[in-house]
Amino acid sequence: MTEQFGDLRELYQELIFDHNRHPRNYHELPDANRQAEGYNPLCGDRLTVYLRVENGRVEDASFVGHGCAISTASASLMTEAVKGQPVEEVEALFRDMHAMLTDAHPEGRDFGKLEVLSGVREFPARVKCATLAWHTLHNAIATAGDVAQTE
Ligand code: ZN
Repeated sequence: MTEQFGDLRELYQELIFDHNRHPRNYHELPDANRQAEGYNPLCGDRLTVYLRVENGRVEDASFVGHGCAISTASASLMTEAVKGQPVEEVEALFRDMHAMLTDAHPEGRDFGKLEVLSGVREFPARVKCATLAWHTLHNAIATAGDVAQTE
């Protein structure tokens, strides 16, 4: 691992390392009804996001793939953050995360643990590593997939 974290604060670094070493919800989801693949050619990060959406709510979320520490930690933190959330809230979080990672901190949003990912703004080459999981999540929600939908 030759990640360059520069002056990311130590706490942030630890959380990212932890989620990279021990990614949460890192498995396929046999009963998923949403699924999307993401690829970041700049870094070589690849991942698949699985969701089980029922009654307008993300009941379960998981991912598999391989990539750098930032992409894996971002996907791990994301699955934790969206589990049990209404789809509209997940989509709002996607928009706010995208804004937070690429531009400015959106007003009135407490990102909690996800705040650790904001450090990538200082490393423009790594921004796509952090946003990959979120774009893939967004695509998974937008595409119904090939599983019949009930809602
Ligand atoms: Zn990467």
